[in-house]
Amino acid sequence: MAKIFCIANQKGGVGKTTTAVNLAAGLAGHHQRVLLVDLDPQGNATMGSGIEKAGLENTVYQVLIGLASVKECALPCESSGFDVLPANRDLAGAEIELVDFDSREQRLRDALSSVAQDYDFILIDCPPALSLLTLNGLCAANGVIVPMQCEYFALEGLSDLVNTIKQVHANLNPELVIIGLLRVMFDARMTLQQQVSDQLIEHFGDKVFKTIVPRNVRLAEAPSYGLPGVAFDRSSRGAKAYLDFGAEMIERIEQM
Ligand code: ATP
Ligand code: MG
Repeated sequence: MAKIFCIANQKGGVGKTTTAVNLAAGLAGHHQRVLLVDLDPQGNATMGSGIEKAGLENTVYQVLIGLASVKECALPCESSGFDVLPANRDLAGAEIELVDFDSREQRLRDALSSVAQDYDFILIDCPPALSLLTLNGLCAANGVIVPMQCEYFALEGLSDLVNTIKQVHANLNPELVIIGLLRVMFDARMTLQQQVSDQLIEHFGDKVFKTIVPRNVRLAEAPSYGLPGVAFDRSSRGAKAYLDFGAEMIERIEQM
């Protein structure tokens, strides 16, 4: 049975998609069967996996409104050996269309149950908002991975997400837990980042992943080639970090 994880942070540009795509590639590199669900109308995880999003007829949108199954829509990320449930701008309409559906926050959960046996990990790349789409992600997941930059306002921003997760846990998905906080775009030369990192550990203890993803330009360059950083330059520090993170996640689920 697949373990399902949301990569979420309502803050924009914090490294959610980079983490989702590269963790998928990192886990596949450790021989795990992985489905990456792009739950963002921006379609960045789709493009970053080498799939052209424009003109796709079968996407996560069709899945959410019940027009297609996950199996009909999933496409392979050729470079890295995982599957992608892609997204494009169509998904922006789902937010409004789903309003009339029963259990509208459970649509993704129900759809993913049909493929739970086919994968070891299902990763969901959430949009930068605490929207109905993110809520679908949180309802479908066993846990949340929160990528964050170690900046001054990072801890403040976390409280909204933590409260939302608590509410979903109490009302909609009793299984949901924060698996961990992942420090990304980390620059060890900056004293402030080191201080915020220390604060994170003080507040959240072993909820902070051991792996630290450094700021690494190869990770930022990779999407323009339609490749996860892990496939684009396997020897880069960024790629190595995500391979390590894959190993850390495999260890974590053995304890779940
Ligand atoms: P959004 O909220 O818009 O969905 P996001 O949280 O998914 O954004 P990303 O798209 O993953 O964030 O990253 C934002 C930008 O930072 C991108 O240009 C990405 O290439 C770059 N980036 C992410 N991680 C790293 C890193 N470790 N080193 C260098 N650049 C990075
Ligand atoms: Mg993103």
